[in-house]
Amino acid sequence: MSAIAKVEPLTTARALRGPFDYRLPEAMQGSVGVGSVLLVPFARRKILGVVTAMAESSDLPDEKLAEPLKVLDSGVPAPLVDLGLWVAEQYCSTPARGLALVTPPGTGTGASAKSSKPKTAFYATITDAGKSALASDEVRLTDLQRQALVGLAANPEGIATAKAENSIGSSIAALRRLEGRELVVIDAREQRRVPTATAIGNLVERPELTADQSAALAQIADALDHGHEDLLLHGVTGSGKTEVYLGAAEAAIERGSGVIVMVPEIALTPQVLTRFSARFKDRVAVLHSQLSPGERHDEWLRLQRGEATIAVGPRSAVFAPVKNLGLVIVDEEHDASYKQDGDPRYDAREVALRRAFVERAVLLSGSATPRAESWQRSRRIKLPLRVDGSPLPPVSLVDMSGQRTALHPQTSAALASVAARGEKAIVLLNRRGWSNYLTCQSCGRAWICPNCDVTLVLHMQRSEVSCHHCGHRERVPEHCPDCDSASIARHGAGTERLEHELRDALGGSLEVFRLDADTAGREGVASVLGRFEAATSGVLVGTQMVAKGHDFPDVTLGVVIDADSTLNFPDFRAEERTFALVAQLAGRSGRGSREGKVIVQTASPDARALRFAANHDASGFVHEELQRREAFGYPPFSHIIKLQTASLDHTRAQAAADALMRAIEVHDGRMIGPAPLFKRKGLERFQIEIKSLDRGGAVTAVREAIELVSASAAGREVKFSVDVDPQ
Ligand code: ADP
Ligand code: ZN
Ligand code: ZN
Repeated sequence: MSAIAKVEPLTTARALRGPFDYRLPEAMQGSVGVGSVLLVPFARRKILGVVTAMAESSDLPDEKLAEPLKVLDSGVPAPLVDLGLWVAEQYCSTPARGLALVTPPGTGTGASAKSSKPKTAFYATITDAGKSALASDEVRLTDLQRQALVGLAANPEGIATAKAENSIGSSIAALRRLEGRELVVIDAREQRRVPTATAIGNLVERPELTADQSAALAQIADALDHGHEDLLLHGVTGSGKTEVYLGAAEAAIERGSGVIVMVPEIALTPQVLTRFSARFKDRVAVLHSQLSPGERHDEWLRLQRGEATIAVGPRSAVFAPVKNLGLVIVDEEHDASYKQDGDPRYDAREVALRRAFVERAVLLSGSATPRAESWQRSRRIKLPLRVDGSPLPPVSLVDMSGQRTALHPQTSAALASVAARGEKAIVLLNRRGWSNYLTCQSCGRAWICPNCDVTLVLHMQRSEVSCHHCGHRERVPEHCPDCDSASIARHGAGTERLEHELRDALGGSLEVFRLDADTAGREGVASVLGRFEAATSGVLVGTQMVAKGHDFPDVTLGVVIDADSTLNFPDFRAEERTFALVAQLAGRSGRGSREGKVIVQTASPDARALRFAANHDASGFVHEELQRREAFGYPPFSHIIKLQTASLDHTRAQAAADALMRAIEVHDGRMIGPAPLFKRKGLERFQIEIKSLDRGGAVTAVREAIELVSASAAGREVKFSVDVDPQ
């Protein structure tokens, strides 16, 4: 029996690289294996660690070996240990941070071992004796008791006693008296709180599948019979992809497999969760960032025990401990939120592919606007038509050059006719706040964040100017602090101002709703979307949040206010993102019985991305995009790694970046930089970009260089960060 456990301590320190050997006392030997989470003594502290391997013996002498203090109840399934370590390796992070992604909630880096008790609630159910009592005249019942029993008989699953007063007009005490007569049983049940996903959009219970949906499903079922495959469901907006996901999950479950369903953001796209919960009930576990630690833990355990077989959640759901994984679904696979922002900067779509490959599961990614990467890599299944056969809405590109107002006359006219017909519109402007920046008209002073080299954005409602990078805030200036002038100019427009202008322009003929990070933070996304859905007509104005997969049948107009802001973003993915944004917004329009249309305001109506989007030609766009990427050596024809150094001190940040440049040797690729980035959160930053054909080699070279430089004098007071496959 293995007596040595190799343990990776869950610490955040980059320098500590395990695994470290621990000797298992006899009592632990049967219960510890790969994936066990242990409390271990470590450098005079007690910390948690994950067992990554077992061994018969150690290279260290016996007296140097310590014993674990405790074995935690829940551990990590062995395949997930490998997955966590793989992520650490691929994204140039540490084993501890990779493992923290797969450990049970509450045991990540820096956490202490705490368990949480499940909540319980009492439920009343009618007994057979109760049913006979209702049917016979022999048993004496008051009218209220009879009413309670009738109510319970209509709810064979039971009624929560706390709600019985409202639902069947019976108090808890009255139910207890019926329980005393054995006409009712009351039992305590474990409560699983599922985040309240408001059902937005029209929910059809179980529609008959269209021919395209059935054909897609048959291909997926066939793949499920054969093990691993990488499938891309390319379905136009409104083609009923969710219904295919549901069918695919059903097929997987029939084969005894578990399923992971990944969604970009549950708050923005609640309908996938709602539909899965409606169809699969308790077999769905939800892993949502807004769950309390206790709820998270419960959901995690239900999956690990096999009580739940479908995990639904955002990117981190890719690490869910689903048993016997057979299918991984990635909804809206083009969405940038699949990329994690902090270390490890993993791409959940890549992790999903890896996990599906290792566990012989089928990967099913879906989108109306697939990425060039997945287009090239996956086998495609098409849903070319909307479910109801309605055409995709016509898209007009209107030229804004020479226009002085926020709304093109064509846009104003279209909004007026939406108002006249009592319909709904969605207006997208990818910038929040009132104005992007302020300047003094006498001396030219610009309002800049003291911590970051960016302008402060005016927010009228909060009467402040604020930095969108570090959160720094100031009161709205009335005078220039430099020259005391009172004439301060506001430049550019964001969603807050647009909301105001729309109200003015529409003069009350349409109600205006705003959805952006500001209103979402104040009121909540679901609430804003719920109000918009409940209204008989109106305009929803906001940032790209408004273009996500919403399904409102009465929206007949979509407007993009400033397509150029996304298009001119200095990034090789800018065109792809613009194409997706316009196509996705178009997808919100005309989903019901009435025809929809889309207007895109732009200064460059000839732009490739916009022309293809106007023709609803995703495959045409991706074909050209792939050619362009190949010509310039962009992904998927190369791998990009970005390295950053950051320091309060400009010279240190630069010197560290220079040292990295010298330390890294790239084969099969090239290095650009170090280039200065704008100061952020008080830190001076430099960036190096590596483009390479050999991803593994480049990641290793980068890791070794960072270890070298961070341990040297050049690395003092400098933070290093690495982003592999940046988005
Ligand atoms: P997508 O994700 O492809 O944009 P959805 O899955 O949101 O499309 O489906 C669009 C609408 O069509 C939804 O309201 C859905 O309930 C409905 N729907 C899907 N499949 C069918 C079908 N076979 N018959 C009738 N309605 C369907
Ligand atoms: Zn001034
Ligand atoms: Zn700032």
